[in-house]
Parts: sequence; structure tokens; C-alpha cells
Amino acid sequence: MSDAARLSPPALRGTLCFDEPMAKHVSWRAGGRARAFFQPADLADLQAFLPTLPAGEPVLFVGLGSNLLVRDGGFDGTVVFTHRALTGIREEPPLGPRVGVSAGAGVPSPHVARFVARHGGAGAEWLAGVPGTIGGALAMNAGCYGGETWNHVVSVRTIDRRGALHERGPADFEVGYRHVRALAPGEEWFVSGTFAFEPGDEAAAMARMKALLVKRIAAQPLDRPNAGSVFRNPPGDHAARLIESCGLKGFTVGGAQVSGKHSNFIVNAGGARAADIEAVIDHVQATVKARTGVALVREVRIVGSAGGGRG
Ligand SMILES: Cc1cc2nc3c(=O)[nH]c(=O)nc-3n(C[C@H](O)[C@H](O)[C@H](O)COP(=O)(O)OP(=O)(O)OC[C@H]3O[C@@H](n4cnc5c(N)ncnc54)[C@H](O)[C@@H]3O)c2cc1C
Repeated sequence: MSDAARLSPPALRGTLCFDEPMAKHVSWRAGGRARAFFQPADLADLQAFLPTLPAGEPVLFVGLGSNLLVRDGGFDGTVVFTHRALTGIREEPPLGPRVGVSAGAGVPSPHVARFVARHGGAGAEWLAGVPGTIGGALAMNAGCYGGETWNHVVSVRTIDRRGALHERGPADFEVGYRHVRALAPGEEWFVSGTFAFEPGDEAAAMARMKALLVKRIAAQPLDRPNAGSVFRNPPGDHAARLIESCGLKGFTVGGAQVSGKHSNFIVNAGGARAADIEAVIDHVQATVKARTGVALVREVRIVGSAGGGRG
């Protein structure tokens, strides 16, 4: 049976396509294809779609792909693309003195930062510089400049393979530094989150956002495709410092290169394959381990199979 026949339920309102180049959807602009790719029209459409998937079909939710690499052989399963799909952001009733905001998983994090500021909240400014979706921020516990996604979570809504929705709280997850693991058994994905922020001043929040963005532009190679920090910072140290101390700035494989501006970034300097990026990651990890004894832990997610196939 063809992919289209197997995976084309009637009456879907979203977009379903096959053999989709994931390089179009990840910030590294490299890598292989997804066998199937679904962008739901809305949450109800996603609820209708998921139960139609064959049992055992691998499912990968993708937001803005800013922390993701799909190997050149591609992802042999279905990608659910939430950006511009699970939209919607609104103010919730105040939680004591705190400002409540809920956002769909596909809403870009910078939108949430500005929305919170406009509604009198403070403490979301750092989200303005995280170029992913709220779903990705929840999955990664994204954070920077002292802020962390799960410090603000009141509740989240998840969806399972049957299309059923679940209301979950922080106690339902094991949360750490760039780490989130659901405690409930079975696969679930984020469809929205409700967050609380301290009261603040809009002008001050906007000014802080601007200042943090200026800091980022000065420190990060934003002119080249990248996926942000590749490795987590080890306790009490910085991955970038360790990488630089090993003389790895500028280390290149094919089109992938350790940035000369920020050593914890790997940039696509032109025509990089996912294999080039992964080879740089592996070399950095091995060299830092051999020279400093520190085992760097990858922050970026890598999926799919190596080599030809769906590349
Ligand atoms: C220039 C640059 C700067 C960055 N700066 C920071 C930073 O300061 N701090 C930081 O933490 N990160 C940073 N990042 C990394 C990245 O932006 C964040 O991790 C972001 O939260 C990822 O969101 P996304 O929508 O792009 O996720 P994706 O890359 O699409 O996905 C990342 C992971 O989350 C999973 N996922 C995505 N959506 C869902 C969902 N709805 N339900 C369940 N799982 C899901 C995916 O399957 C994948 O495993 C940066 C990246 C870039 C390119």
C-alpha cells in the first residue's frame, strides 16, 4: 500500500504530505526527509488525525525545528508540525498577584514574551530570544539569562495517540536543566500550556527584551543557520569555554563548523549535511572528553537514520 493510501484519512482539514524535506523546517537548514508530514488545521483536526495512524507509527512533533537535526537518511515516520497550527494565546484570570497566560504549542516563544509584557507581566523577557515554539520550550525546558520555562508552568494540555486530551501539572513531569520527562506511561505531546508571571511594567519588560536581544546578537552567530547551544553547560562551567580551550573554534567537517563567534554553536557554513553536523558534534565531544575529562551532554535532539534513503 502506498504511503498516501495508508496515511490519508478522509476529511482532514490540515496539510498532509509525503517525503517532506525537513531541512525546510529545521533551523540548521540541513538533513533528511520525513516519510509523512502533517500540519493540522487546528487541535480538533490533530485529534482526528492521530488515531488514524497505524499502530507503531513513529511520531515526531516539531515546532520551529530550532533544536533539532534529522539525519540524512530521514525520519521513517510521521512529523506533526505545530507551528502555525496549534495557535492561540490568551490572558487567563490572574493567579493571585500573578499574570496568567495560556498559549498553544505552535505559538512562537517570542510572541509569548511580548504578550506577557503587554498584559502587565514580568519575567518572560528571556523568551523573546528563544527562536522556537512554546511546545518546544515545554519539551526542552528552554531557558536563558536566569529564566526557565517550567518555572512558570501552571498546567499543560497534552494529547495522546488516540487523540485524547489530558490536563497535566508540573508534578506529572520530571523537570531539570534542559530536561523534561513525563511520569505517566505512554506517549503524549504538548498542545498548550498555561503560565504565570509576576506583575511588572510593560515599558521595563520591553526594554529588557531589547537589551537581551542586543546581547545575543553580539555573542551569537545569528547570520548562519544554527541550532543554538549544541551542548548543555556542565555544572559550574560553560561548554563554550571548554570547547574553545581545546582549540576547536573553527573546526570544520564538510559544511559544518564550530562557530568562531560562540564555540557552543555549530553553524551550517554552506551546504552542510546532517552527517557533517553530527561529525562535528562527535569530534567536539570526544576531544573535550579526552583533553579535559568532561563528558559534554548534547542539548540538541538528533533523530532519523544516517545515510541515503530519505535524504
Ligand atoms: C539562535 C538560537 C538561539 C537559541 N537560544 C536558546 C536559549 O537561549 N535557550 C534555550 O533553551 N534554547 C535555545 N535555543 C534552542 C531552541 O530554540 C529551544 O530549545 C526551543 O525551545 C525549541 O523549540 P522548537 O519549537 O524549535 O522545538 P523543535 O526544535 O521543533 O523540537 C525540539 C524538541 O522538542 C520536541 N517537541 C517540539 N514540540 C513539541 C510538542 N508540542 N510536544 C512534545 N514535544 C515537542 C521535538 O520533538 C524535539 O525533540 C536556541 C536556538 C537557536 C537557533
